[in-house]
Amino acid sequence: MARLQINRLTKRFGGTVAVRDLSLDIADREFLVLLGPSGAGKTTTLRCVAGVEKPESGTIRFDDQDVSHVSPAERDVAFVFQTYALYPRKTAFENIAFPLVARQFAQADIEHAVREVAQKLHIEHLLDRRPAQLSGGEQQRVALGRAMVRRPRAFLMDEPLTNLDFKLRVEMRSELKRIHSELNTTLFYVTNDQTEAMSLADRIAVLNAGVLQQVGTPEQVYDHPVNRFVAGFIGNTRMNFLPCVLRNEDGPGLHGRDGAWQLAISDSLRDAIRSRSDGDALILGIRPEDLALSTQPTDGAIEAEVYAVEPLGDRTIFDLRVGDDIVKVRTPPTFDAPQGSRLWFDVDRSRIHVFDPRTDKALI
Ligand code: ATP
Repeated sequence: MARLQINRLTKRFGGTVAVRDLSLDIADREFLVLLGPSGAGKTTTLRCVAGVEKPESGTIRFDDQDVSHVSPAERDVAFVFQTYALYPRKTAFENIAFPLVARQFAQADIEHAVREVAQKLHIEHLLDRRPAQLSGGEQQRVALGRAMVRRPRAFLMDEPLTNLDFKLRVEMRSELKRIHSELNTTLFYVTNDQTEAMSLADRIAVLNAGVLQQVGTPEQVYDHPVNRFVAGFIGNTRMNFLPCVLRNEDGPGLHGRDGAWQLAISDSLRDAIRSRSDGDALILGIRPEDLALSTQPTDGAIEAEVYAVEPLGDRTIFDLRVGDDIVKVRTPPTFDAPQGSRLWFDVDRSRIHVFDPRTDKALI
C-alpha cells in the first residue's frame, strides 16, 4: 500500500516528447486509471513509475520516499502487462508461486500464500493446470495471482484486458473491481478504452499527446469535461460539436452555421458563458442522450432530416442532418422513423456544453 506521487515528469525519446510536465497524486488504495489514445504517453508514464524507464526530469515518490533513483526491484511494485507471459511448462500453482520460490520462502508459506491468492481470484480449481489448458481470462488471473502473491506496495497495470475477447473483458472488469477492493492496494491502471476507465476508476486522469488534460471522478470528467478533447474522448457515442454564434437579439440564443438552426437559451446560461459578446463564435457540445426526438414540431425544438439510423438493440442512434451538420441522437429502441423523414429534436439546456473554438476550452 502506498501513495504514489508523480511530480513534473517529462520523458523524451529523441525528438518525441512522450510525457510533458506530468503531475499526478494517487492516493493510498486508490484505483486511478490513466486514459488516453494510442501514443498519448501512458505506458511511458507507468514505466517511469516502475523504474524501468528513466525520466528526463521530475520525481516519483512512494509515500514519503523519493524513489526516482531507486532500482525497479527495490520499488516493490507489481507490473501486469497485456501479454501475461506465463511459464508454459509450469502449472498455475508453480507460476503463482514463482516470485516466492525465487525469494526462497519456506514451502509451507508458499503453499499458504498461493492458496490464499487463488481463492481471491476464484481459480483454486485450476492450480494443477498448465497455461495451455487455461482460457485467456484464466491465464490473466494466474498472471494477476503471480503479481499479488508477493504483496507489492502498488500494482501497475498496462492494458491487462486488451487481449481478452469482449465477453471475458467485461467479466474481468467486474472481477478487477472486486479484487481491488479485497486487495486494499493502490492500483495505477492504463487503458485507451474509455468504458473500461469509466467502470473501473475511482478517478480518471486523461492524457493526450503527453499532456495531462483533466483528473476527476468518472462523473466529473463525463459531466464537466474541461475541454473538447476530454468531451469527445469520453462517452460511448461521441458528443456532438456544433459551430455556432451567440446572438442577443430577441433574447439570447445560439445560432448555427448559415442560420440553419437556433437555440434559445436563458439569460443565466448566457451569463454563464463568461465574457462572450454578441456575434462571438462558439462550439455547442451536447451528448446524444441529452437530446429528445419528436415526430411533431414542439416549442423550442430544432427541425432536422433523418440521415441514417443505427439500431443497437438496447438503443437506437439517429444521425440527423441540420444544415451542414450531423447531430447524433440516442433514443429508446422503440422509437422509429424512416431515413429521409423529418423530425424535431429538443436540447436539454441544463446539459449543454459550450467551448471556445480558439482554445477548445470549456466555457460552461
Ligand atoms: P499505446 O496505447 O499505443 O500503448 P501509449 O499512450 O502507452 O500508447 P507510449 O507507448 O507511452 O504511448 O508512447 C508515447 C510516445 O513515445 C509515442 O509517440 C511513442 O512512439 C514514443 N515512444 C515510446 N517508447 C519509445 C521508445 N522506446 N523509443 C522511441 N519512442 C518511443
